[in-house]
Amino acid sequence: VTHFESGALTAERDVVSLRDLLKELEAAYGSRQDQSVILIWEVPTELPELETDATKLKQILQNLINNALKFSNQGSVKVSAAHDQATNSVTFRVEDTGIGIPPESLNKIFGKFYQVDSSHTRKHDGTGLGLYIVKQFSLLLGGKVEVQSELGRGSTFAVILPVGRVAGKKASTEAAA
Ligand code: ADP
Repeated sequence: VTHFESGALTAERDVVSLRDLLKELEAAYGSRQDQSVILIWEVPTELPELETDATKLKQILQNLINNALKFSNQGSVKVSAAHDQATNSVTFRVEDTGIGIPPESLNKIFGKFYQVDSSHTRKHDGTGLGLYIVKQFSLLLGGKVEVQSELGRGSTFAVILPVGRVAGKKASTEAAA
């Protein structure tokens, strides 16, 4: 295994079968039949291999899935992945039907320790670091994270990673949080 440095963070370069990684995660979350929020996995058979840090990629997805479940009281959380041939990138999506995020908070939620300060989120625990880690790891792996949300309706987080190259050399771990 080779390494490269990016600020204080180091990424491994594993050859990762995305389908295997997602199927592993799916198994780890297990059956949620007794829960009020169902977890749906859409994992196509033809996903590519990626040279990336498997542990950090898993952490990114777990943080997004755990948030989606935490901030949804009913409905579903959908996890999907898709390979875009045109840009040779992979997009991971975590889509929930939860409480949503106010528009004025959308550019702040990836900051260190930031939590939306309102009566309905205060009942949730957490450190405000989950999305900060998602953003820093996504940059480290050469990709990016995007969010769309509608208050009261749900949120969709997308992590986009390049396939064709070893990513992240230019990423700074302290990049605009
Ligand atoms: P926390 O430990 O509070 O979950 P995060 O950094 O993961 O910290 O998220 C920061 C804040 O962004 C959360 O406290 C919450 O207010 C908001 N947030 C994150 N994910 C979601 C989501 N899926 N739906 C609604 N709000 C969310």
